[in-house]
Amino acid sequence: MRLILCGPPGAGKGTQCKRIVDKYALTHLSSGDILRAERAAGTELGKKAQGYMDTGALVPDDVIIGMMIGAIKKAAGNYVLDGFPRTLPQAEGLDKALREAGEKVDAIVNLLVDDEVIEKRLTGRRSCPTCGAVYHIENLPPKVDGQCDKSCGQLVQRDDDKPDVVRNRLKTYHEQTEAVVGFYEAEGRSILNINADRDIDEVTTAVFAALNKIDG
Ligand code: ADP
Ligand code: ADP
Repeated sequence: MRLILCGPPGAGKGTQCKRIVDKYALTHLSSGDILRAERAAGTELGKKAQGYMDTGALVPDDVIIGMMIGAIKKAAGNYVLDGFPRTLPQAEGLDKALREAGEKVDAIVNLLVDDEVIEKRLTGRRSCPTCGAVYHIENLPPKVDGQCDKSCGQLVQRDDDKPDVVRNRLKTYHEQTEAVVGFYEAEGRSILNINADRDIDEVTTAVFAALNKIDG
């Protein structure tokens, strides 16, 4: 199964992806996680991405398209894309690469949440730099304050989850990313719109119910 998970930053894409990949045995391809790993490893790609990520801007399309098409090829037709495509050129680049391979995306899951909710989610997000687990100081707190439940150690706040950058990321989302769903709608693809402004488990139940329909 080939899926795309769309939605604003903080909608719960990463949280829901972890559950989707467990249930449907897919590879989780998060453009943000891949970029953060490249930065941590100090690669050329990571260095190129750094300035954009720090201000809440998007990394240039040519860099992202090459990086993600490479990751998709390795995932052998079973994946969920998280955070990609984020612009119309990225959606077109993905479409072209899939068409050339005789493939297409099975569904687009679109998580819907208002901006006010997003700000609270992102500024309260805490992440484990070691295992990638994601918590929230109020909605999904770790068992011990500030510590990963998997004994990895200290949780961190992503620099781009600080209030100023969050506002820029939301602006970037409305200006450049929101249109991606329209692109798929115009192509007659299956868009699964999910109200993501409710409890994490309720969102998962709604996502699974929608996916079970397309999975037969
Ligand atoms: P979130 O999980 O909050 O939606 P991500 O981890 O997906 O955020 O992205 C963090 C940052 O990485 C973005 O603000 C952007 O700078 C960069 N980034 C991630 N995915 C893309 C993409 N598809 N195109 C361009 N930039 C991206
Ligand atoms: P995204 O990948 O879309 O940026 P995340 O999955 O990282 O979003 O979630 C952003 C923050 O909001 C995290 O701190 C997460 O624990 C929290 N969160 C995710 N889904 C929900 C939800 N349905 N209700 C409340 N908090 C949530």
